[in-house]
Amino acid sequence: MDIIVLKPSATEEELKHITKKLESMGLRAQVSKGTERTILGVIGDTSKTTEEVENSVRAMPGVENTVRVLKPYKLASREFRKAPTVIKSRGVIIGGKKINVMAGPCSVENKAMMVDVAKKVKSAGADFIRGGAYKPRTSPYSFQGLGEEGLQYMAMAREKTGLPVVTELMDPRDMEVMEKYCDIIQIGARNMQNFRLLLEVGKSRKPVLLKRGLSATIKEWLMSAEYIMSQGNHDVIMCERGIRTFETATRNTLDLSAVPVLKSLTHLPVVVDPSHGVGYRHLVAPMAKAAIAAGADGLMIEVHPKPEEALSDGEQSLRPDEFKKLMKELQAVAHAVGREI
Ligand code: PEP
Ligand code: MN
Repeated sequence: MDIIVLKPSATEEELKHITKKLESMGLRAQVSKGTERTILGVIGDTSKTTEEVENSVRAMPGVENTVRVLKPYKLASREFRKAPTVIKSRGVIIGGKKINVMAGPCSVENKAMMVDVAKKVKSAGADFIRGGAYKPRTSPYSFQGLGEEGLQYMAMAREKTGLPVVTELMDPRDMEVMEKYCDIIQIGARNMQNFRLLLEVGKSRKPVLLKRGLSATIKEWLMSAEYIMSQGNHDVIMCERGIRTFETATRNTLDLSAVPVLKSLTHLPVVVDPSHGVGYRHLVAPMAKAAIAAGADGLMIEVHPKPEEALSDGEQSLRPDEFKKLMKELQAVAHAVGREI
């Protein structure tokens, strides 16, 4: 018994009884109130609940049905929630008809550059600014990010443009400062299975952009989303950013089949990051178009005013004019698949 579907007529009192009953069995309920009915996700080890127990829950007032989910993830599954999850961040809707574009430099480098890029991506039509203040670099000798100072520059860029901020959290110890400045918390590919970090952002009320691990299967990735959701934060955005394969012509292999696969397995919105997916500027535009054609709800694209001087990921960053041109070209693709951008 993993999901309890309530009758449309179920009362708050009946809901209370059901959650009490679950607690008496060492389980917890995650309540999801839909427009039509309320669904409870049963959290805990449900493999031990017997047929008799399940029957007794099904007989409780207010219960319409109980469902067993064979997949290891429940809250993230389509069985738990049929309708797509729609997330709001500072009034911007993610997972609706409009495709969201998150754009900005790989790293926040200084104030002037951050504000300048934010203005340019906004005028091109972006919905969010991105930029890293805590950078997960392969070498300890590479630029590690500006930390809180970087977050302050992003907040200033938001003030000037109104665009909400997406930025990466690497360490639970930075959670407090993160809560102060950012709008969407990014969990980077290298931390997709940092379970303590996932539990921490699960306690936050901010949406989480969960990037796919470098060698993670879709199932593992959804289990990481489940970690976050198990703590009560259901606002998780899945971000495909390329995986490791034998291919060396691109930085990673952008797995666009992950988009329709995820759409069939989960109700969570899906964003594609072609910049990290391919690693080279000239390949970003075609893959961004393909991502929209495949059904992505959003894109994350690195943009830098002078990529040749960037402190990280210059090779894959678009110049502002290239980004502007791409945004125009994306309109036709979006319309072809019934979306807006
Ligand atoms: C980034 O967004 O700059 C980044 C480091 O991404 P990823 O975790 O996908 O490598
Ligand atoms: Mn980057």
